Formats: sequence, structure tokens, C-alpha cells
Amino acid sequence: MSTSTDDGHPRGRALWERARQVIPGGVNSATRLIGRPYAFTRAEGAYLWDADGNRYVDYHAAFGAILLGHRDPAVDAAAAAATAQIDLVGLGVTEHEVRMAETLREVLPSAEMTISCMSGSEATAQAARLARGVTGRRYLVKVQGGFHGWHDPFARNVISPPERAYRLDPLSSGILPDSLSGTLIAEYNDLESVETFFHAFPEQIAAIIVEPIPHNVGALLPEPGYLEGLRAITEREGAVLIFDEVITGFRHALGGYQQIAGVTPDLTTFGKAMANGYPVAGLGGSRALMENFSSAGGSVLLAGTYNGHPVGAAAALATIDRLRDTDHYPRVRRLGDLMRAGLAEVISELGIPAQVVGEGSVFVVYFVPEPVRGYRDLLGNDDDAYREFHRRMTDSGFLMLPMSLKRNHISGAHTEDDVTRTIDAARTVLTDMCAD
Ligand code: PMP
Repeated sequence: MSTSTDDGHPRGRALWERARQVIPGGVNSATRLIGRPYAFTRAEGAYLWDADGNRYVDYHAAFGAILLGHRDPAVDAAAAAATAQIDLVGLGVTEHEVRMAETLREVLPSAEMTISCMSGSEATAQAARLARGVTGRRYLVKVQGGFHGWHDPFARNVISPPERAYRLDPLSSGILPDSLSGTLIAEYNDLESVETFFHAFPEQIAAIIVEPIPHNVGALLPEPGYLEGLRAITEREGAVLIFDEVITGFRHALGGYQQIAGVTPDLTTFGKAMANGYPVAGLGGSRALMENFSSAGGSVLLAGTYNGHPVGAAAALATIDRLRDTDHYPRVRRLGDLMRAGLAEVISELGIPAQVVGEGSVFVVYFVPEPVRGYRDLLGNDDDAYREFHRRMTDSGFLMLPMSLKRNHISGAHTEDDVTRTIDAARTVLTDMCAD
């Protein structure tokens, strides 16, 4: 973690110093303190402004939650209208929640029923508990590098740096080994690694959870047959297939990546982009599965003071409306293609051992020499090169995710001009890095 003191951002540094007195580390999520201590004062469309008045083209997009652009007027207006009408209630249901669940069922056919919560971590925790509760089985299978929230059962084998990969390391202290002992780690794009577990633990695996594109390590793309294979294995074994679409959902298609892949999971978790930055997330599945929640008389506890919050629901409905009636998806895909082609050309011109990958609006630069298929291919990533690339791009006014092996997001507010300027800046930055 580099936090040099002469970073030329006096106001940002001063705010962060104040923050450090009252917020551990000065940030509310550890990954927000990578690179220098940022403090932002304004957001609009494709841009963020820091406390020192610098403007950035924002590809971080709050880890992908900003889908349409910052402060989308239609989404903000819908949230404001909801607040003008109602706030939180603790009994029964509000119309906003019902409309959101009805709309989700329309756009995501596998979400015949949904529950709504505040964060992706809550959604995946509910999914894990539901899968275990329904099957009465112990094990959960995830893939190396997949991230499904900060809670115990999935807090294993997420970390990117190669030295910690494959060690079955918990993500945090304070996690009882028992909580992780039911979590098995398979390899993405490797069905054999999944089959091995089903042979070793017959009728004991409750669920496989996978990001259909593991965006927490950039963008590993599913090989033909992989997601279909997970579907077939789970069906054969009576296990629950969970697609964690917290990043891919709404970002790649209104019906999630499952719509593009043509593979239907039993449960889907979503969050982030679904409300363009407003805090709402959810879990969807068939009526038969979802009615195992205690709200419908089942045995799996469903609780949460803020669940179904009308403001989040209104923001999600407005976001979905904006996605339905516009050319959002082809437009951001075209910009994504432009970005990937432009960056790949620069890299090839300069002879840099790097790969540009992605899907739709997402682009990733891996500093590895060979094309990437699975997590193992990322172990040789040149972390230092990525960090330097990131630092120099940020200083040039282009904000990307500071951790290597992460993705960047084009929103509905970015323009072709933003993309062209980003490619030009990358050319300058990478040329300078080669010269140093
Ligand atoms: N699942 C995935 C795939 C994620 O990327 C994340 C967050 N990065 C989560 C779950 C957890 O979501 P949240 O941070 O909203 O709790």
C-alpha cells in the first residue's frame, strides 16, 4: 500500500488524515486505500472530481455499480420521488418492492421469485444458506479467485497475489476454521476439478457458486461447454447451481450473463449495477426453492431491517427502465470493443508482454505474456507493472481499479472521445514505462 506524502493532493490528504482519526485506516472498505489516499467531492456522468479539483474519467465506477453514469437524472428522480412518498416501514410490503420483484421476473426468467437486501454479500449469504437448508448438505464449491462477499463461508481463495493463491487461506482473521471447512475450491474452466469433489463427497455438496465471468480476477471468459457443464453436473447430483451475477448482472445484459450464455442457474445473486449505485441487491430463483424462506413458511431464516427498501427498489426500477428502452448494451459494447482494440494495438506496437481482454463494457489489462484461460495463467502477472500503469493513468486523469487482475467499466455516460483519449493516454504511459 503506497501512501506517499508528497502526492500533490493537499486537500485530499487533509481529509484522509481527518478520516484516519475516526474511521479505521480512513476508509470504509480496505480496497479503497490502494494507491494514494483519494477524497472525492463530486460525481457526474463519466467523471469524478477529487477534493483538489482534479477531474477523472471514471472506469472504476464504484466497482461496477455505476452502470449508466454517475447521478443518472432518471434514477435520481425516481429515488427522490420514492422518498417524497414513503420511507422505511417494518411491516408488510410496499408497492415498490412488489414492482421490483415483478420486473426482475420479467427480465431474468430464472428469478421467478426474488428477495431483496442491501448488498451483494447479504445476497450470497442467503444463497448459501438456502442451498444448504434445502439440500441438507454440507459443502459449497467455489472457484479459485472467485469473490462472493466478505462473510465466512466464501472468504477463502480470493486473494490475487500468487504467493497466497491455492493455500486455502481465509480472507480474514476471526474466521473459525470450521466455517471454512465446508468450502471447496475448484478451478474455473475445469469441469474435472468439480467432478473430483462430487466423487469425493457424494451427496454432500449443496451448491456450486460461480461468477459466470470471474470479474474479481479481471475477466476469465467461460470456454464453450463450461457453464453448461456446471449445469449438467449440478442437475445430475441434485446440487444447487448459483450464478453470482453481482457484477455481471445488468452490466452485460438485462437478463444477466446467463442470458448471453444461455445457461439457467437455480439461484442468481445480483447487486451493484442493478440500481446504478443505490444500495440494493437480491437473490432470485424458482418458486419451489425460494418458498423455503421462513417468510413463506419454510425453514431458512429470512430477515433484514432494510430489506426491500423502497428507495433502492425505485432506483432499480428506473435503472431497468433506462436499460430497456435504449441502445445501452450495443453502445457500451461498441465502446468496449474500441477500447480493447485500441489498448491491444498499443501493447502490440510497443511489444509489451500483456493481454487485453473483457466482455461488453468491461476491459482488463493483464501483464502476462500468454493468453489467459484460467486462474493459473494469471499467476505470472507482473503486479508492479500494473500498479505503475495504474498510477500513471490516474495521474493523467483516467481512474481505473488500482488492484491488478481487476476489471474496468465503461458506463452509459462515457463517449467515444473519452475512449480515444484513454487509449492515447495509455500509449503515452506505456511508452514512458518502456523507456524508464
Ligand atoms: N459477489 C461478487 C461477484 C462481487 O464482486 C461482490 C463485491 N465485489 C460481492 C458478491 C459482494 O457484494 P457487496 O460488496 O455489495 O457486499
